[in-house]
Amino acid sequence: MVDRITPNKLLNPTSTNPTRYMSIKEEIFHVLRRNLVATFSFYASKEVVLCPVCFTEITKDEVLGGALEHIIPQNVVESDPDSLKVISKNQRCGITVLCRQRRIWGDEIKERCIDR
Ligand SMILES: [Zn+2]
Repeated sequence: MVDRITPNKLLNPTSTNPTRYMSIKEEIFHVLRRNLVATFSFYASKEVVLCPVCFTEITKDEVLGGALEHIIPQNVVESDPDSLKVISKNQRCGITVLCRQRRIWGDEIKERCIDR
């Protein structure tokens, strides 16, 4: 079963303070990684998630460093009716992670999926 990122923050299981909540970046990495390992168990030994566009591995440090991207641009939901604004902007836009590395496929250099 694939997890969805819920509005409830997850407690950070790796923190020395078990009551510390994860940041949104930590939470997204945790959920995406858990889904990846549930689908492809051979990723259990790697602390990575996959770019949904090109399947490049993205490390936790890269996610914490800002690999997040809104699926729907934030300005699109600015004009949402007030009745929808009880839902956070991040939830209305959806969040994913995209790679920020150039990669080489054969003789071809592919650009990263998002600019810095
Ligand atoms: Zn990518």
